[in-house]
Amino acid sequence: MADYKLRIAHLYGDLMNTYGDYGNVIALTYYAKQIGVTVDYELVSLHDTFKADDYDFVLFGGGQDYEESVTAKDLPGKSAEIKTYIEQGGSLLAVCGGFQLLGRTMEFADGKVINGIGVMSHHTVNLNSPELKDGMRGKRLIGNIEIKNNENGETYHGFENHQGRTFLGEGEKALGHVISGNGNNGDDQTEGVIYKQVYGTYFHGPILTRNGNLAKRILKNALSKRYPKVDWQGKLAAIPTESF
Ligand code: GLN
Repeated sequence: MADYKLRIAHLYGDLMNTYGDYGNVIALTYYAKQIGVTVDYELVSLHDTFKADDYDFVLFGGGQDYEESVTAKDLPGKSAEIKTYIEQGGSLLAVCGGFQLLGRTMEFADGKVINGIGVMSHHTVNLNSPELKDGMRGKRLIGNIEIKNNENGETYHGFENHQGRTFLGEGEKALGHVISGNGNNGDDQTEGVIYKQVYGTYFHGPILTRNGNLAKRILKNALSKRYPKVDWQGKLAAIPTESF
Protein backbone atom coordinates (compact mmCIF):
# COMPACT_ATOMS: atom_id res chain seq x y z
CA MET A 1 0.00 0.00 0.00
CA ALA A 2 1.20 3.50 -0.80
CA ASP A 3 2.73 5.37 2.08
CA TYR A 4 0.65 8.53 2.41
CA LYS A 5 1.63 11.13 4.94
CA LEU A 6 -0.01 14.27 6.32
CA ARG A 7 2.54 16.70 7.75
CA ILE A 8 0.97 18.90 10.42
CA ALA A 9 2.38 22.09 11.94
CA HIS A 10 0.75 23.28 15.15
CA LEU A 11 1.61 26.97 15.30
CA TYR A 12 2.28 28.16 18.87
CA GLY A 13 0.48 25.07 20.20
CA ASP A 14 2.00 25.60 23.66
CA LEU A 15 0.56 29.14 23.89
CA MET A 16 -2.49 29.21 21.64
CA ASN A 17 -4.61 26.25 22.72
CA THR A 18 -7.80 27.55 24.32
CA TYR A 19 -10.24 24.79 25.32
CA GLY A 20 -7.91 22.18 23.85
CA ASP A 21 -7.82 23.33 20.24
CA TYR A 22 -5.20 20.57 19.85
CA GLY A 23 -8.20 18.24 19.64
CA ASN A 24 -8.46 19.36 16.02
CA VAL A 25 -5.24 17.46 15.34
CA ILE A 26 -6.64 14.40 17.11
CA ALA A 27 -9.76 14.55 14.92
CA LEU A 28 -7.79 14.81 11.69
CA THR A 29 -5.50 12.00 12.80
CA TYR A 30 -8.54 9.83 13.56
CA TYR A 31 -9.92 10.20 10.04
CA ALA A 32 -6.50 10.05 8.35
CA LYS A 33 -5.77 6.69 10.00
CA GLN A 34 -8.98 5.18 8.64
CA ILE A 35 -7.95 5.96 5.06
CA GLY A 36 -4.37 4.72 5.39
CA VAL A 37 -2.66 8.07 6.01
CA THR A 38 -0.08 8.53 8.76
CA VAL A 39 0.37 11.88 10.48
CA ASP A 40 3.59 13.72 11.33
CA TYR A 41 2.98 16.32 14.03
CA GLU A 42 5.27 19.21 14.81
CA LEU A 43 4.74 21.97 17.34
CA VAL A 44 6.18 25.18 15.88
CA SER A 45 6.48 27.84 18.56
CA LEU A 46 8.41 30.97 19.54
CA HIS A 47 11.76 31.30 17.70
CA ASP A 48 11.21 28.10 15.68
CA THR A 49 11.46 28.16 11.90
CA PHE A 50 8.34 27.67 9.80
CA LYS A 51 8.80 26.72 6.13
CA ALA A 52 5.83 26.78 3.75
CA ASP A 53 6.76 23.63 1.86
CA ASP A 54 7.24 21.48 4.95
CA TYR A 55 3.55 21.03 5.83
CA ASP A 56 0.21 19.86 4.44
CA PHE A 57 -1.94 21.22 7.26
CA VAL A 58 -1.44 23.99 9.80
CA LEU A 59 -3.40 24.55 13.01
CA PHE A 60 -3.27 28.02 14.57
CA GLY A 61 -5.38 27.89 17.74
CA GLY A 62 -6.89 30.45 20.07
CA GLY A 63 -5.45 32.25 23.05
CA GLN A 64 -6.46 34.94 25.46
CA ASP A 65 -5.20 38.47 24.85
CA TYR A 66 -1.93 37.95 26.79
CA GLU A 67 -0.84 34.79 24.94
CA GLU A 68 -1.95 36.39 21.71
CA SER A 69 0.25 39.43 22.34
CA VAL A 70 3.29 37.19 23.01
CA THR A 71 2.58 35.28 19.80
CA ALA A 72 2.13 38.49 17.82
CA LYS A 73 5.67 39.60 18.70
CA ASP A 74 7.14 36.41 17.24
CA LEU A 75 4.98 36.33 14.11
CA PRO A 76 6.93 38.79 11.93
CA GLY A 77 9.75 36.21 11.72
CA LYS A 78 7.35 33.64 10.28
CA SER A 79 4.80 35.75 8.44
CA ALA A 80 6.40 35.68 4.97
CA GLU A 81 6.43 31.86 4.94
CA ILE A 82 2.91 31.67 6.40
CA LYS A 83 1.74 34.02 3.63
CA THR A 84 3.43 31.85 1.02
CA TYR A 85 1.86 28.73 2.52
CA ILE A 86 -1.62 30.27 2.36
CA GLU A 87 -1.27 31.82 -1.10
CA GLN A 88 0.00 28.47 -2.46
CA GLY A 89 -3.27 26.89 -1.35
CA GLY A 90 -2.05 25.27 1.85
CA SER A 91 -4.73 24.03 4.25
CA LEU A 92 -4.95 25.89 7.51
CA LEU A 93 -7.42 26.01 10.38
CA ALA A 94 -7.27 29.16 12.50
CA VAL A 95 -9.30 29.36 15.70
CA CYS A 96 -10.25 32.54 17.55
CA GLY A 97 -6.95 34.31 18.40
CA GLY A 98 -5.23 32.55 15.48
CA PHE A 99 -8.02 33.67 13.17
CA GLN A 100 -7.67 37.25 14.44
CA LEU A 101 -3.89 37.28 13.87
CA LEU A 102 -4.12 36.26 10.21
CA GLY A 103 -6.02 39.47 9.46
CA ARG A 104 -5.02 43.11 9.17
CA THR A 105 -5.36 44.40 12.72
CA MET A 106 -6.37 43.15 16.15
CA GLU A 107 -7.50 45.31 19.06
CA PHE A 108 -7.02 43.90 22.55
CA ALA A 109 -9.51 44.51 25.36
CA ASP A 110 -7.21 47.23 26.78
CA GLY A 111 -7.43 49.21 23.53
CA LYS A 112 -3.99 48.33 22.17
CA VAL A 113 -4.09 47.73 18.41
CA ILE A 114 -1.53 45.49 16.71
CA ASN A 115 -0.97 44.42 13.14
CA GLY A 116 -1.83 40.86 12.19
CA ILE A 117 0.01 39.01 9.44
CA GLY A 118 -2.29 40.74 6.97
CA VAL A 119 -2.43 37.81 4.58
CA MET A 120 -6.22 38.01 4.90
CA SER A 121 -8.40 41.11 4.78
CA HIS A 122 -10.47 40.87 7.99
CA HIS A 123 -9.89 43.11 10.97
CA THR A 124 -10.79 42.79 14.64
CA VAL A 125 -11.90 45.53 17.02
CA ASN A 126 -12.42 45.23 20.73
CA LEU A 127 -15.58 44.89 22.78
CA ASN A 128 -15.86 48.65 23.38
CA SER A 129 -15.25 49.80 19.82
CA PRO A 130 -17.33 52.63 18.35
CA GLU A 131 -17.57 50.42 15.23
CA LEU A 132 -20.08 48.30 17.16
CA LYS A 133 -23.78 48.97 17.30
CA ASP A 134 -25.34 50.31 20.50
CA GLY A 135 -26.19 47.45 22.83
CA MET A 136 -23.38 45.26 21.47
CA ARG A 137 -20.55 46.88 23.45
CA GLY A 138 -18.98 45.93 26.77
CA LYS A 139 -19.64 42.18 26.84
CA ARG A 140 -17.73 39.11 25.78
CA LEU A 141 -19.49 36.87 23.30
CA ILE A 142 -19.82 33.55 25.12
CA GLY A 143 -21.93 30.47 24.58
CA ASN A 144 -23.03 27.69 22.28
CA ILE A 145 -23.27 28.53 18.63
CA GLU A 146 -24.74 26.90 15.52
CA ILE A 147 -24.12 28.01 11.95
CA LYS A 148 -25.00 26.87 8.45
CA ASN A 149 -22.92 27.04 5.29
CA ASN A 150 -25.45 27.59 2.51
CA GLU A 151 -23.06 26.59 -0.28
CA ASN A 152 -22.43 23.05 0.95
CA GLY A 153 -25.54 22.73 3.14
CA GLU A 154 -23.53 21.71 6.21
CA THR A 155 -24.37 22.77 9.76
CA TYR A 156 -21.60 23.26 12.35
CA HIS A 157 -21.83 23.38 16.16
CA GLY A 158 -19.41 24.91 18.63
CA PHE A 159 -18.72 27.07 21.67
CA GLU A 160 -17.47 30.63 21.43
CA ASN A 161 -15.78 32.87 24.00
CA HIS A 162 -14.18 36.05 22.69
CA GLN A 163 -14.00 39.74 23.32
CA GLY A 164 -12.73 40.63 19.85
CA ARG A 165 -15.20 41.39 17.05
CA THR A 166 -14.08 40.44 13.59
CA PHE A 167 -15.32 41.99 10.36
CA LEU A 168 -14.63 40.16 7.12
CA GLY A 169 -12.98 41.97 4.23
CA GLU A 170 -12.48 41.73 0.50
CA GLY A 171 -12.19 38.23 -0.95
CA GLU A 172 -13.38 36.56 2.24
CA LYS A 173 -16.49 34.42 2.67
CA ALA A 174 -18.00 33.43 6.00
CA LEU A 175 -17.67 29.83 7.16
CA GLY A 176 -21.39 30.00 7.79
CA HIS A 177 -24.26 32.23 8.81
CA VAL A 178 -25.35 32.28 12.42
CA ILE A 179 -28.44 30.27 13.33
CA SER A 180 -27.97 30.75 17.08
CA GLY A 181 -25.16 32.46 19.00
CA ASN A 182 -23.04 35.48 18.09
CA GLY A 183 -20.37 34.68 15.50
CA ASN A 184 -17.71 37.07 14.21
CA ASN A 185 -19.12 40.25 15.68
CA GLY A 186 -22.60 39.59 17.09
CA ASP A 187 -24.15 41.72 14.40
CA ASP A 188 -23.79 40.75 10.73
CA GLN A 189 -24.65 37.05 11.22
CA THR A 190 -21.33 35.87 9.80
CA GLU A 191 -19.20 33.26 11.55
CA GLY A 192 -15.63 32.45 10.64
CA VAL A 193 -14.00 32.75 7.27
CA ILE A 194 -13.05 30.81 4.19
CA TYR A 195 -10.21 32.14 2.06
CA LYS A 196 -8.47 29.82 -0.40
CA GLN A 197 -7.87 26.68 1.74
CA VAL A 198 -7.92 28.60 5.02
CA TYR A 199 -10.78 28.05 7.42
CA GLY A 200 -11.04 30.51 10.30
CA THR A 201 -13.55 30.31 13.13
CA TYR A 202 -14.39 31.36 16.67
CA PHE A 203 -15.52 27.80 17.46
CA HIS A 204 -13.86 25.87 20.20
CA GLY A 205 -15.09 22.48 21.13
CA PRO A 206 -12.73 21.71 19.31
CA ILE A 207 -14.46 22.39 16.00
CA LEU A 208 -13.18 19.31 14.14
CA THR A 209 -14.02 16.83 16.90
CA ARG A 210 -17.60 18.13 16.97
CA ASN A 211 -17.98 18.54 13.23
CA GLY A 212 -16.69 15.50 11.40
CA ASN A 213 -18.14 16.85 8.15
CA LEU A 214 -15.74 19.82 8.31
CA ALA A 215 -12.83 17.62 9.44
CA LYS A 216 -13.26 15.44 6.36
CA ARG A 217 -13.58 18.48 4.08
CA ILE A 218 -10.32 19.96 5.38
CA LEU A 219 -8.53 16.60 5.28
CA LYS A 220 -9.63 16.09 1.68
CA ASN A 221 -8.29 19.55 0.71
CA ALA A 222 -4.95 18.94 2.40
CA LEU A 223 -4.42 15.46 0.94
CA SER A 224 -5.61 16.44 -2.55
CA LYS A 225 -2.95 19.12 -2.78
CA ARG A 226 -0.19 16.67 -1.92
CA TYR A 227 -1.57 13.57 -3.68
CA PRO A 228 -3.86 14.90 -6.45
CA LYS A 229 -4.42 11.55 -8.18
CA VAL A 230 -6.09 9.81 -5.24
CA ASP A 231 -9.88 9.92 -4.76
CA TRP A 232 -9.80 11.20 -1.20
CA GLN A 233 -13.42 12.32 -1.36
CA GLY A 234 -14.50 8.76 -2.12
CA LYS A 235 -12.37 7.27 0.64
CA LEU A 236 -13.63 9.76 3.23
CA ALA A 237 -17.27 9.44 2.18
CA ALA A 238 -17.25 5.89 3.55
CA ILE A 239 -16.63 7.15 7.10
CA PRO A 240 -19.78 8.20 8.97
CA THR A 241 -19.73 11.56 10.76
CA GLU A 242 -21.97 13.70 12.88
CA SER A 243 -22.17 17.34 13.87
CA PHE A 244 -23.31 17.75 17.47
N1 GLN B 1 -8.00 37.09 22.82
C1 GLN B 1 -9.07 36.92 21.94
C2 GLN B 1 -10.38 37.50 22.37
O1 GLN B 1 -10.79 37.39 23.53
C3 GLN B 1 -9.20 35.47 21.55
C4 GLN B 1 -9.91 34.59 22.53
C5 GLN B 1 -9.83 33.13 22.20
O2 GLN B 1 -8.96 32.70 21.44
N2 GLN B 1 -10.70 32.34 22.80
O3 GLN B 1 -11.01 38.07 21.53
